[in-house]
Amino acid sequence: EVTTLATLPTLRARSLGSKAALILRDEPLSYEALEHRSNQAAHALLREGIRPGERVAILGKESLDALVLLFGAAKAHAVYVGLNWRLAPEELAYILEDSGARMLFVDEESAALVPRVFEKMRGPLPVVRVGAKQDAPGTFSHWCAGAADTPLTETYDAEDVVVQLYTSGTTGRPKGVQLPHRSLLAIAHELEAHGERWIGWTEASVSLLFVPTFHIGGLWWLVRGLALGCTQVVLRGFEPATILASIPRYRVTHTCMVPAMMQILLSEPGLQQTDLSSLEAIVYGGAPMSTALLEKGQRLLGCGFAQIYGMTETGNCAVCLRPEDHLGALPSRLRAAGRPFPGVKVRILDEQGQEVAPGAIGQICLHSPARMAGYWRQPEETRKTLVDGWVMTGDAGYVDAEGFVYICDRVKDMIISAGENIYPAEIENVIRSHPEVADVAVIGVPDELWGEAVKALVVKQPGSHLRAGDILRHTRGALAEFKVPKSVEFTGPLPRNASGKLLKAVLREPYWKGRE
Ligand code: ATP
Ligand code: MG
Repeated sequence: EVTTLATLPTLRARSLGSKAALILRDEPLSYEALEHRSNQAAHALLREGIRPGERVAILGKESLDALVLLFGAAKAHAVYVGLNWRLAPEELAYILEDSGARMLFVDEESAALVPRVFEKMRGPLPVVRVGAKQDAPGTFSHWCAGAADTPLTETYDAEDVVVQLYTSGTTGRPKGVQLPHRSLLAIAHELEAHGERWIGWTEASVSLLFVPTFHIGGLWWLVRGLALGCTQVVLRGFEPATILASIPRYRVTHTCMVPAMMQILLSEPGLQQTDLSSLEAIVYGGAPMSTALLEKGQRLLGCGFAQIYGMTETGNCAVCLRPEDHLGALPSRLRAAGRPFPGVKVRILDEQGQEVAPGAIGQICLHSPARMAGYWRQPEETRKTLVDGWVMTGDAGYVDAEGFVYICDRVKDMIISAGENIYPAEIENVIRSHPEVADVAVIGVPDELWGEAVKALVVKQPGSHLRAGDILRHTRGALAEFKVPKSVEFTGPLPRNASGKLLKAVLREPYWKGRE
């Protein structure tokens, strides 16, 4: 059984040999080749003097080199730090210094950024170029050349940290989350132990991966597919046209995305003409999905849908709204994030840390076999977030009588107006369903009378003549009066982070400056 990333390629190569594990830019990499090349990368890391537990960082879009390095690092007992290539030089410098990375692997496109990143750091790091077409000095294949591709004579512990991923930085500076091998494999083991054929994903499936592996969702998906032994088509990022071309071409059966990607994909011009008949299930999550968008997706894509809810700290998925929960479901059920995966427990706590009454709203706390080992170099934050094996998610929500978990919003984004707790996500969901609304954010702004007042920041569809009154009328019928915005403002594009999540702190800042 696969219990570590280090032994995953070895075990799969034994049973699957020349089957394609990964296909990137039409170039296949077999399970056997993944095994040999990751052995080589491990030997090269050891030759470089990388010691157990030392960090190696990778910056760039997906490439076979980068994916080989993930397993090579695991085999060398190094810790793989995936960096978001959309971050600014300052942000990258912060993460590189914070992680204590010893080496940096970088692709062609991000290489230009590197001098500006190093400028902001105490000193430069040794750099190796990944994803290069030619085998020139300084490239990954050149760096690996000469290293043996023989298996390492090491033993591995599932509790050892293998990957360090940074949180999306939605609520503050990204935090380094230390993930042991266990975090990436535990949910799969639980599903197998319980005989659950989750989303019907098997060895015979074909997966399409275009969400980045520097976020837990993409990384977990990658590892899950390889552990299953299926073939995965990996794109270098979210390229809608390539996605539509790849589905019929490779007869893709399973894929995953965040809601912002679904929104774009559904308005892609070629969608109607694309043969999507091979698709069995699409998994979505990572941010709130509006019910209007979900229903449109179900209608236009015609396959099964599953939602996952989790966070970097829980090793991704902890709760799932399964395909069978979507079928013929009432709209109210589609607002649920789902029920816990096998092995996962959920508790809802109030501000004093007491369990709330059934159905009441509080902080969602998750006990998962996939939970992190702790934040890197943040003992205080770790103590607050990981309590007796329970992860404090920072998300507010409730559990219904059938055990379905509903997410209201982040605890930090909750608006308290005239003593009522208001969750902006609920209001955003209603406003977004207006056909002339392209995007929306709801925040609390200071108010003499109410403490905080609900404010909607709305981006209109091109050509729309929408007025504030239209938004108010639209929300009035659907929401309690105290949730209806006290003010509506039309704006340009809203600030989102590299994962497409709204940066509420940035939106609130001008209103609260000098007050908090
Ligand atoms: P940071 O912790 O740095 O502020 P982040 O919390 O956005 O950033 P991630 O770990 O990538 O970083 O994201 C986890 C969060 O994403 C969850 O806490 C939750 O708020 C949100 N989320 C994940 N899945 C869902 C979902 N299915 N529906 C709604 N929100 C979700
Ligand atoms: Mg978080």
